[in-house]
Amino acid sequence: MRGSLFVVSGPSGVGKGTVLRRVLERLPHARKSVSVTTREPGPREVPGDEYFFVEEDEFQRRLASGEFLEWAGVHGHRYGTPAAWVDDQLAAGTDVVLEIDVQGGRQVREKRPDGCLVFLSPPSMEELERRIRGRGRDDEAEIERRLNVARRELDFAPDYDHNVVNDELESAVEQVVEILRRRREGEAGK
Ligand code: ADP
Ligand code: 5GP
Repeated sequence: MRGSLFVVSGPSGVGKGTVLRRVLERLPHARKSVSVTTREPGPREVPGDEYFFVEEDEFQRRLASGEFLEWAGVHGHRYGTPAAWVDDQLAAGTDVVLEIDVQGGRQVREKRPDGCLVFLSPPSMEELERRIRGRGRDDEAEIERRLNVARRELDFAPDYDHNVVNDELESAVEQVVEILRRRREGEAGK
């Protein structure tokens, strides 16, 4: 049985990383793809953990050689999903989750119409701002930029297969786990 491909999108700070970490702890047959980015690593970020960090020319080279399943410019930096790793995992029967932005979500929808798209929304913009500040990673200009982008990203939620509001963490985790489980059980029944 092939694995299924999932996309999880939502504004920066909504809790994608937090929710997915817990979801993946419960689903041993699912893994998250590690993206390549031109963004600088934050002080607590380990290369190869959440991202592979590369220079702009290296990103360009990989893009030109067709390495990315999808890619996008987000907050002034570039991010891409390595296609080979994703396809190896799917072929081995592992479910793959892409934590990517809405531009990437659209590309996956076109290229992989069997993919399942999940949008994570904040309970309110005020709460989103609190979470971005609470994370303590971004300076004031970056926070403003992320909040402005967030307002536009929320418009894409209706294009997704599932919408989950990350209000109470455990409830959001449970909803995403169920979405992945149902899809896997559906595939197994085919
Ligand atoms: P993203 O990956 O979407 O940028 P993070 O996972 O880094 O977001 O979460 C941003 C901040 O919000 C973190 O400090 C995290 O602990 C907090 N957070 C995540 N989910 C919730 C929640 N349901 N309730 C309160 N705080 C949350
Ligand atoms: P951050 O820099 O906060 O980790 O991520 C910023 C945004 O980039 C988030 O919305 C995240 O989902 C998105 N992102 C991360 N990796 C990728 C990727 O490989 N492709 C696309 N399209 N977006 C990504």
